[in-house]
Amino acid sequence: CGIIGYVGEHGAAPIIIDCLKKLEYRGYDSAGISVLDGKIDTYKTVGKIKELEKILPENLNGNIGIGHTRWATHGVPSTVNSHPHNSGDISVVHNGIIENYLSIKEKLQKEGYEFLSETDTEVIAHLLHSKLYGSVDSSSKTSSFFEALCSTLREIEGSYAITAICSSEPDLMLAARKDSPLIIGIGEKEYYAASDVTAFLNHTKDVIFVDDLDLVTIRPNGVEFFDINGDVLEKEKTTIEWDI
Ligand code: GLU
Repeated sequence: CGIIGYVGEHGAAPIIIDCLKKLEYRGYDSAGISVLDGKIDTYKTVGKIKELEKILPENLNGNIGIGHTRWATHGVPSTVNSHPHNSGDISVVHNGIIENYLSIKEKLQKEGYEFLSETDTEVIAHLLHSKLYGSVDSSSKTSSFFEALCSTLREIEGSYAITAICSSEPDLMLAARKDSPLIIGIGEKEYYAASDVTAFLNHTKDVIFVDDLDLVTIRPNGVEFFDINGDVLEKEKTTIEWDI
């Protein structure tokens, strides 16, 4: 139902929690967060953001992270079905519906990928892993995380807004969308990705709207937009004139 991504100078966890609270009005059944600090730490639960805060350790460090509020479409509301969904060192949050998830799931299961959840979303995590590492038990990369997302998006059908992180490329967050909203917020040496501008409006009002099938790379030193073939796109920054 709501997604967030943060890359910047500050600790990601409290900012992501703050942004998720701004999205609560949309309704949700569960919530979760992944933060990257050398490795990826993921916390998720059914219930309100308050419940999520209760299970977060105090020293959840890391300047890059993703968060989610879920409105279950595939799989009951439960902790394992909550996002983020992980595969190896990759963590993904998703709004929308992957229409062809069953055929992709069967293919990946034959390749040895183990599915923990009933969601359509989990195929994105394992598909990214299979594109990045070539196979379930490999830890040497066969492409970049960005290229892995390009080829994952060519395979999935349906609607999505995605943010994803990978601890083997620790300065990078990827984002993409098709038929689900996604907006990038441009702050002072910090960047946001969210399904709704209200999520980060008290941090920055400078935004770039992501178009369908755009891919976005978000690093501590800037944001770049690409089409699905990996060609650079030029985008205009807009300033939001209203307050929340
Ligand atoms: N289809 C996904 C799920 O059921 C995402 C739902 C959402 O957009 O919150 O987990």
